[in-house]
Amino acid sequence: MTSETSETRRVLVAKPRGYCAGVDRAVQTVEKALDLYGAPVYVRKQIVHNTHVVQTLEKRGAIFVDETEEVPEGAIVVFSAHGVAPAVHEQASRRALKTIDATCPLVTKVHNEAKRFAAADYDILLIGHEGHEEVEGTAGEAPAHIQLVDGIGGVAGVQVRDPERVVWLSQTTLSVDETTETVSRLRERFPNLIDPPSDDICYATQNRQTAVKEIAREAQLVIVVGSTNSSNSKRLVEVAKDAGADASYLVDDASFVRDEWLDGVTTVGVTSGASVPEELVEGVLARLASHGFADVHEVESVPESVRFALPHELRRDLRTTTA
Ligand code: SF4
Repeated sequence: MTSETSETRRVLVAKPRGYCAGVDRAVQTVEKALDLYGAPVYVRKQIVHNTHVVQTLEKRGAIFVDETEEVPEGAIVVFSAHGVAPAVHEQASRRALKTIDATCPLVTKVHNEAKRFAAADYDILLIGHEGHEEVEGTAGEAPAHIQLVDGIGGVAGVQVRDPERVVWLSQTTLSVDETTETVSRLRERFPNLIDPPSDDICYATQNRQTAVKEIAREAQLVIVVGSTNSSNSKRLVEVAKDAGADASYLVDDASFVRDEWLDGVTTVGVTSGASVPEELVEGVLARLASHGFADVHEVESVPESVRFALPHELRRDLRTTTA
């Protein structure tokens, strides 16, 4: 226990936090597919990178698989928010699967940029994390033209055919500041490097990083709710520390919060990644309240109102059913 009185203990909750429009759409896609077609509905990869969301959907009848080969012929499969390479669509078609593509429209935007620059024969430098599903999907659009640059450390190894025809694109969930640094190192090597037509790091990633910076300036500890395989959640931990928090930890839920983190702390910041349901944040706030952190303030830094329509194939079937 600390010597501080409960009056001195406060919590700053970042806003925006939690579900982004792409995650909301992907989760709703699986829920509505279960309602419409009945269980089981197969989902390739985790629909979004959150353990609790996946477990909840599993209880309702979703079956998560790594590859389309694991889905019985003719069954329904949902593609996750992170997107898939064209080869995955082809595999699904060979197995006569009924596909519902829940790829976030902002990931599709990056796929389209990759296709367009590849068609114009550019070398594409894709900044992102090796092995991440989104990167695999984007790179799969034009494997002969795309090379991965995994952060600043990857810059030295880049080789291009023509330094005058090079463009950079990125994963949607990177650290804005680190990516800016990576691009400036790439530009030192390739002064005529072309920027993407618009930001690839999505609005939700940018807004959550802006919001966590705001609370991290005043908090000694920042708790980020999110799963360890969630890229945008992990970035929030890094951004919080860079912005001034003495410590920042990623927790799947309240049970991961350790008492000793709170020793000597008077202000705790709380936020959550783009794939995290609000009930998990509420659980963390309840746990903090039980340690005297009952004075809770929400700090809004960016208003957010983005929404995406459900995938067209699902909307079509929903219309047919209700007609
Ligand atoms: S984090 Fe961004 S790109 Fe990813 S699903 Fe959400 S809105 Fe789409």
